[in-house]
Amino acid sequence: MRYSQLMLPTLKEDPAEAEVISHKLMFRAGMIRKLAAGIYSYLPLGLRVIRKVEEIVREEMNRAGAQEVLLPCVQPAELWMETHRWEEYGKDLLRFKDRHSRDCCFGPTHEEVITDIARREIRSYRQMPLNLYQIQTKFRDEIRPRFGLMRGREFIMKDAYSFDTDEAGLEKSYHKMYEAYERIFKRCGLTFTAVEAETGLIGGSASHEFMVMAETGEEIIVSCQSCDYTANVQKAEAKRTRLRARGSEKTLKPLKKMETPDMKTVETVTQFLKVRPQDLVKTLIFETDQGVVATLIRGDHEINESKLEKLLGCGEVKLASDDVVYEATGAPKGFAGPIGLSVKIIADYSVESMVDFVTGANEEDAHYVNVNLGRDVKVDQFADLRMIKEGDRCPRCGKSLSFSRGIEVGHIFKLGTKYSKTLKATYLDENGREREIVMGCYGIGVGRTAAAAIEQYHDEDGIIWPMPIAPFQVIVVPVNNKSEPLMETAEGIYRLLSGSGVEVLLDERDSTPGVKFKDADLIGIPLRITVGEKNLKRGLVEIRRRKNGETIVIGKGNTTETVLALINEEMEASLRA
Ligand code: ATP
Ligand code: MG
Repeated sequence: MRYSQLMLPTLKEDPAEAEVISHKLMFRAGMIRKLAAGIYSYLPLGLRVIRKVEEIVREEMNRAGAQEVLLPCVQPAELWMETHRWEEYGKDLLRFKDRHSRDCCFGPTHEEVITDIARREIRSYRQMPLNLYQIQTKFRDEIRPRFGLMRGREFIMKDAYSFDTDEAGLEKSYHKMYEAYERIFKRCGLTFTAVEAETGLIGGSASHEFMVMAETGEEIIVSCQSCDYTANVQKAEAKRTRLRARGSEKTLKPLKKMETPDMKTVETVTQFLKVRPQDLVKTLIFETDQGVVATLIRGDHEINESKLEKLLGCGEVKLASDDVVYEATGAPKGFAGPIGLSVKIIADYSVESMVDFVTGANEEDAHYVNVNLGRDVKVDQFADLRMIKEGDRCPRCGKSLSFSRGIEVGHIFKLGTKYSKTLKATYLDENGREREIVMGCYGIGVGRTAAAAIEQYHDEDGIIWPMPIAPFQVIVVPVNNKSEPLMETAEGIYRLLSGSGVEVLLDERDSTPGVKFKDADLIGIPLRITVGEKNLKRGLVEIRRRKNGETIVIGKGNTTETVLALINEEMEASLRA
């Protein structure tokens, strides 16, 4: 490709709204342009990277035995009503009506559609295992689209779905996908880790997220420094502390109500009462599909809503509104407490061993001190409800945990029979008995993977593409396009490289070398061949590696073989990593 014929609008300035480096650089490198919030056009350079990622994904999915399909984006509401996700999915689901006033949605994911295919086409155990995947545009009306392709509303996803006769089959299919994902992200040249994760709106029994390590990541990854425990912080279990002997009734201090005028926060109450946050128990009231529930959690801990959702086995829980809190406790928010509450009370494990603690008094401007379980409070259930935090111990081995940040690029789920049950996707087993198909689903954000690569690999001059997903592998820069011998040599190198299958860009623009070098660095092409006067007089050209600035000077006749060797080396390095 010739630079002057390529639509490559590079920019010096960062876009005002871009917060993260990948968004800034994709915009400045002329890869993407914004049409509306979370909706982007891919310009030629951007699309080349997207296609590279897609191709790696496609090759590895095929290698793992999955078959490519393409499902519709527009989906009828009826199908989503069958699984109840028409109600459950909330506002992320883009809904509209066709000309006959029939409700439709733009697919945010395709469990419904693929299970509909399965229930029509799969009859016998002989048709499984089966894995179908597609690479396609999804729409999720994200509440806060941001960071460019990282969290768009319209985005490209690879989604795969496996169908097996039983759990053991699913286990195998899941493992195959796990391995395929490892290969995919390795081949993209990324540093990543797989963590245990929550299943969320997709559902199912187990899941792993593939995280690209980056400080700007939205996800917090918890990993044990001694054993191999790694989890998303949402999912990370808190180690249950051993029960301290709670002391006999006699040693407990007498319950006492204290005036705490206008003190509604852990901070103000504990300062006023001269106790530590860990001596207070917060009572948080939630609205759930099972009614109002009170949770008790230590003052220095945070509630993990997804643990509560899982425990209750219900859809989304939400912190109760002021009215609901008033109705349940008889007091405004900030003064709720467990004593005398008539709603279900669930306490975090860490509350189990507390004595003489502080709680709200269910009365405006009042708190109790010396509250004790059993004597004063009846807890319906103890559970792991809290977010784990720095300083916590590994739930498996008890050693210390470390926290880091990552970008979720892939997510795999064991769905089990969640969708086959509701959509009645069954097959006949060896004995002619009807059984539900056991499913898994597996997603990769294609645009997010490209963005994550930039988060991982960039410097102050621009992007540093890993060779396997670079839009071009080589850029040839003649430093003066008025000089005929220079241009001839550059053209010759360009032709030979193109002929050898190298993806090469020839910068034959009438610009200064400075401008050309800056653009080459910004768009992140891994190898730059500079054809300059001084070197050429001696029959030489220079090759510079974008990733470390290393340069070598070689005879111009050796360019093709040297470049091919360098490309191979960098491609293989990503697989070895
Ligand atoms: P997140 O928690 O980041 O919203 P998710 O759990 O909703 O992600 P999945 O439903 O598992 O995502 O989708 C599979 C993959 O699709 C994700 O791992 C991610 O790479 C990608 N993806 C999801 N939402 C977006 C988005 N809004 N923009 C770009 N990629 C996305
Ligand atoms: Mg999401």
